[in-house]
Amino acid sequence: MKILTEIKPDIKELNKDELTRWFKERGVQPYRSIQIMRWLYVKLVDSFNEMTDISIENRQILSENFSFSTTHPKQIESSADGSKKYLFELKDGNAIETVLIPEKNHYTLCISTQVGCAMGCRFCMTAKSGLIRNLTQAEIINQVIGALKDITDEKRLTNIVLMGMGEPLANYENVIRAINLLTDTDSGLHFSTRRVTLSTSGLIPRFSDLSRDTRINLAVSLNATDNKTRDKLMPINKKFPLEKLIDACADYKLAPRNKITFEYILIRGVNDSIEDANRLAKLLRPVKAKINLIPFNEHPGSEFKRPDESAVLKFQAVLHQKNYTAIIRHSKGRDISAACGQLSAKQN
Ligand code: SAH
Ligand code: SF4
Repeated sequence: MKILTEIKPDIKELNKDELTRWFKERGVQPYRSIQIMRWLYVKLVDSFNEMTDISIENRQILSENFSFSTTHPKQIESSADGSKKYLFELKDGNAIETVLIPEKNHYTLCISTQVGCAMGCRFCMTAKSGLIRNLTQAEIINQVIGALKDITDEKRLTNIVLMGMGEPLANYENVIRAINLLTDTDSGLHFSTRRVTLSTSGLIPRFSDLSRDTRINLAVSLNATDNKTRDKLMPINKKFPLEKLIDACADYKLAPRNKITFEYILIRGVNDSIEDANRLAKLLRPVKAKINLIPFNEHPGSEFKRPDESAVLKFQAVLHQKNYTAIIRHSKGRDISAACGQLSAKQN
């Protein structure tokens, strides 16, 4: 006889209101849900059994109805520059990558939001596999919990960037639920909204939802200063060309004193000329903008090359002259093919 095991939902897929409702329906005091959330996201326990101020009876009810996903990475690779790549295996056998980046006084974690990506950017490793599927709320959050548990030194993980595999705005509902848990300073993970940044290739129909639903920072992958070049590099530009993208950015409701970060990968002979730098400065005038210049990170089989250091510095100098904040960011973890934002999909 075939034994069918019932698939129970993961407790970490519920938000506070859903958990409260679930308890109410079963006659359990709703404040228990806050206690449970704190066990999950403040104390970071690995099982219902560790929730010692919840009665044994209630723990039993929980374990009969919910599963408890693990946050333990399958593999950890360390890079010469100090960054670390975690490989998380998902229940269905797919794998995602997360990169922990040490900064001077804190850590930044680069998390994934999809397995693969549908956007097809020509320079991006993640694009090669196409979209496999969206990550769930729990799968997004578990990357953060896994990294928090792995950190043993006094440096704290304070910054989160949604710049790993996937287009976050194409998985809006799960991403916003995960962001709300990350930035819930009562019974969530306590990250400051000012230290969480979502990076998008420019899915502008979601911009108004995002500014309504959260105050986290926005980063936009620009990568070109004319439609012809951007069409080639990023197919999404055919749907939402530069003028529309810049308009949407200018209209974006920012927190006071906040700016949108524009990411600009510098690719030799494609978008790294002085004319490009001048055009970029002009293009961004209507927006409260700062710029991250990212020398292209070469990967096996990539058709593009990174520019010389001198070309990168000249490009930056033009932007400085025009009074922009422009920071050169070298991808971390290059030697473990884990550069944040171009995670390899080789496991899938
Ligand atoms: N899909 C979102 C977030 C993930 S990609 C987005 O496109 O913004 C995160 C960043 O990594 C993007 O700015 C992208 O342009 C950059 N990136 C992708 N491949 C890269 C490469 N080979 N070298 C340098 N940066 C890369
Ligand atoms: Fe997707 Fe971003 Fe890579 Fe483009 S750069 S394919 S949007 S992950």
